Amino acid sequence: MTTLWDLPDFDAHEDLHFFTNEECGLKAIIAVHSTHLGPAAGGARFWYYAEDDHALTDALRLSRGMSYKNAMAGLPLGGGKAVILADKERTKSPDMLHAFGKAVDALAGHYVTAEDVGMSVSDMIEVRRATNFVAGLPNSGGDVGGDPGPHTSLGVFLGIKAAVKRALGKDTVEGLHIALQGAGSVASGVALHACTEGAKLSIADVDEAKANTLASTTGGTVVPADEILTLEADVLSPCALGAIFNEQTIAGLKVPIVAGGANNQLAGPGDGARLHARGILYAPDYVINAGGIINVCTEYLGDGDAALVRQRIEGIPVRLEQIWADSAASGRDPAAVADAMAQHLIGRA
Ligand code: NAD
Repeated sequence: MTTLWDLPDFDAHEDLHFFTNEECGLKAIIAVHSTHLGPAAGGARFWYYAEDDHALTDALRLSRGMSYKNAMAGLPLGGGKAVILADKERTKSPDMLHAFGKAVDALAGHYVTAEDVGMSVSDMIEVRRATNFVAGLPNSGGDVGGDPGPHTSLGVFLGIKAAVKRALGKDTVEGLHIALQGAGSVASGVALHACTEGAKLSIADVDEAKANTLASTTGGTVVPADEILTLEADVLSPCALGAIFNEQTIAGLKVPIVAGGANNQLAGPGDGARLHARGILYAPDYVINAGGIINVCTEYLGDGDAALVRQRIEGIPVRLEQIWADSAASGRDPAAVADAMAQHLIGRA
């Protein structure tokens, strides 16, 4: 019999919680990977999974990613993640969000939630009715808080610029071709920063209307969703869902740089090495996409203002540089270097 502890993505997670409320249709998993550096923090994902197992895998992988992300961003937080299993129609109700808030509250601050894919600032307001252990709320009068997306986008854009500097020797993305997978919250912000600096954009989303809207506001070109990973470009910026890089997709890449905001981009443990072997500079996802959690953490802890958020986000390209320098010196791929640094920080070296 396979048990939870045998699952490939189980990584000594501290605890795992399953919540069901049949009245409002809530089915949720909260995974706490590590509280070594502080309360486990990470967003809540609202998504339809064809198999419940896939939701569990997501919760395990995403919560470990949050441990690594928070540690690498220098935050006093551990790593956790919530996954709410949506029905096919993605029916969401205030009662369901309230019940989710009660589930978070039952953990008494061991886990702190915020937005992730499928959840918005207004959803967090509903969650807040049932718990204080939530961030990503509107910034009513203060200057931190609100949608973490724009902060994630800023960190990703600064990370892209650092990668461009390292791999192409250029100080700007002006005139460079950036291929964006996704046209949601994070991708939109990255696209706006990049087009303001004069980059040429190709944009793909499974929701073509979103790709069209983003392309029209940024002067970009829409590309079919199944072509974006094989497009010839200077940078591929994955800003949709995870597990997109495997042996086959890596073989088809035609870019010198992969730097984007999506969580868990590498499908398996060997994929960082595969990118490296192809000479593609990879920005480890949980390092480059930490801008949102930096803003969430600053809001939740109340330990700083927008200037501190900006300063912390500007640390992202610095951390990436450290990783790439270590990679160049040691020959190890950047994903492996980042994992080793993060494991050291959370006491699991
Ligand atoms: P979002 O829901 O606003 O956008 C995601 C977009 O990806 C949607 O428009 C969706 O239609 C599209 N998409 C899904 N599958 C696709 C595919 N195969 N090809 C092309 N497009 C596809 O979500 P978001 O907040 O922009 O987050 C994007 C990614 O960044 C996620 O992996 C998320 O976990 C990660 N992330 C987000 C934040 C944040 O602050 N929002 C922070 C860190 C990491």
